Amino acid sequence: MPEISKPIPAITPDMREFFDGARAGRLMIQKCDSCGTLRFPAHDLCSKCNSTASSWVPVSGRGEVFSFNIMHQLYHPGFAK
Ligand SMILES: [Zn+2]
Repeated sequence: MPEISKPIPAITPDMREFFDGARAGRLMIQKCDSCGTLRFPAHDLCSKCNSTASSWVPVSGRGEVFSFNIMHQLYHPGFAK
């Protein structure tokens, strides 16, 4: 049986900095220029202060897993194994 590839995420304009950073080996996160809140995925508006000003900054990749889920139903054949 041929191997079915996994779906890859769409590289949308608002997430391009993230994927460009990943290709260069850097983890990039959007940061609010007004209050400093980090946000991922990228948004036009800061959820903390409603500012539209933001920049992309490199981060270490260290952190704490806040939540996760386990899929019990197969939604894509690329994940069958
Ligand atoms: Zn903010």
